[in-house]
Amino acid sequence: MSDIFNAEQRRFLKLLGLAVPGESPVLPLAKNQAASAPARAETKAEIPKSIASSLKAPEGIRALRAAAGVLSAPPKAAGVAQPVAPEPQPEIPAEPEASSLPDLPAPGESAEPQRLQQISASDWRDLQIMVHNCRACSLGETRQHAVFGAGNPRGSWLFVGEAPGAEEDRRGEAFVGRGGQLLDNMLKAMGLTRQQDVYIANVLKCRPPNNRDPLGPEVQSCLPFLQRQIALLQPRIIVALGRFAAQSLLQVTTPIGQLRGQTHQYQNIPLIVTYHPAYLLRSPLEKRKAWEDLQLAVQVFAAASTASS
Ligand code: SF4
Repeated sequence: MSDIFNAEQRRFLKLLGLAVPGESPVLPLAKNQAASAPARAETKAEIPKSIASSLKAPEGIRALRAAAGVLSAPPKAAGVAQPVAPEPQPEIPAEPEASSLPDLPAPGESAEPQRLQQISASDWRDLQIMVHNCRACSLGETRQHAVFGAGNPRGSWLFVGEAPGAEEDRRGEAFVGRGGQLLDNMLKAMGLTRQQDVYIANVLKCRPPNNRDPLGPEVQSCLPFLQRQIALLQPRIIVALGRFAAQSLLQVTTPIGQLRGQTHQYQNIPLIVTYHPAYLLRSPLEKRKAWEDLQLAVQVFAAASTASS
């Protein structure tokens, strides 16, 4: 059975940590997990027929990758609003510039309407400065760094996670550490890179202490930043990583298991839901479902690109 997979296909499966028949699994992100009980269990699992059949033909992989725009950064579709041209990842000043500080509200006046108005009117650069100076919720007092996002703001794909973790908080970068490495491998399996095709952001820009779940008021305070990012980026597709990202963007309380496997819409942008990389590190058996979600995303992206061309 193992001879139905050529070298490229084997590498493709290994990137996601899926078992290749006749071989021991390779989990490039967590070598110490390779000997763990869940990982061993994964080696016994068979690759789903839908995935195996799509991998039998190398042209199938190339078609998926071409559809995902791996060969070159796809231009924005005609008729699709172009994003405000942001400078890719400009350096953020450590301290706010005096001229960048928002006007103070009048005595007795709530700062929130004014803040929301400034967010909705901001360009990419101003939005970055606002995030880095933000103290709108208590997380602004406990964070080390606010984390704005990472990747290519001109990319057609937007991946949205929950909140920075400890490593992200320490370094001020999005999706670094083991979760970030797994996400990069997920992107690689789709034929994407965060340098060229993808922008990555979180619902919360500051880390909740001890990685606790975000609180409702924190999401309410921070979500306008993500909404403005999406308005400026105008991605062709959004992939929500995990329950909080999906529920926050879709404004629902539906469990993630019911949100997966279908195409949602966020302001006329197709949105696919899958598991967060941090969850996949804890539950490697769910990687197969995540791969099915990513395949769906590639197909939806290809269909959206064809419809807009
Ligand atoms: S989590 Fe969001 S709203 Fe809260 S302080 Fe950080 S940037 Fe501001």
